[in-house]
Amino acid sequence: MSDIPNSPNQCPLCGADNRCGHLAQTTECWCFHAAFPKEIFELIPPEQRRKACICQACLERFTKRGGM
Ligand SMILES: [Zn+2]
Repeated sequence: MSDIPNSPNQCPLCGADNRCGHLAQTTECWCFHAAFPKEIFELIPPEQRRKACICQACLERFTKRGGM
């Protein structure tokens, strides 16, 4: 594995900006309305879970393929 970003605004799967509105201190975030299959969280290293949001691109890729 290459370096995994450990910043709360970076997707733990691809390292891109996850654009989480929660961090931007807006009241609404796209992730509040998105359905995250629980399987996607199993792809995240345990120490990264609940720290950084998955980005929308990774969520879409996962849901379309049914996996990464
Ligand atoms: Zn991502």
